[in-house]
Amino acid sequence: MRRNVLIALLLVLCTLPLVAQNETTPGEAAAGIAAMGGCMVFVLIMLAIQIFIMIWVYKDAKARGMDNAVLWLVIVLITGLIGLVIYLFVRPKGETMPCPSCGKKRMTGLPRCPNCGNP
Ligand SMILES: [Zn+2]
Repeated sequence: MRRNVLIALLLVLCTLPLVAQNETTPGEAAAGIAAMGGCMVFVLIMLAIQIFIMIWVYKDAKARGMDNAVLWLVIVLITGLIGLVIYLFVRPKGETMPCPSCGKKRMTGLPRCPNCGNP
């Protein structure tokens, strides 16, 4: 949950230039707005990376026939990059190839496709 606290803190820092711009020159106000925009972009990029990692882990876990793909999604949501590193260590090792039936990724050697159930 530390990541969420960090994001909350960043959001507070982002609003500071807005609060402080009452008695500033237009130039300083513009700089404040630019700083706020930079903060927002940073937060959005961090969020995008987080969501990208979550989707990737979920799809990868599914492709490897793991029943707890959703659990891994939640773990990465809470722990972020640490969860990703743990996942990479504990996931079943093997090559993933596109399924001949549904085209989604599946690990070679699985008796059935985890996505469509075809052998
Ligand atoms: Zn399939």
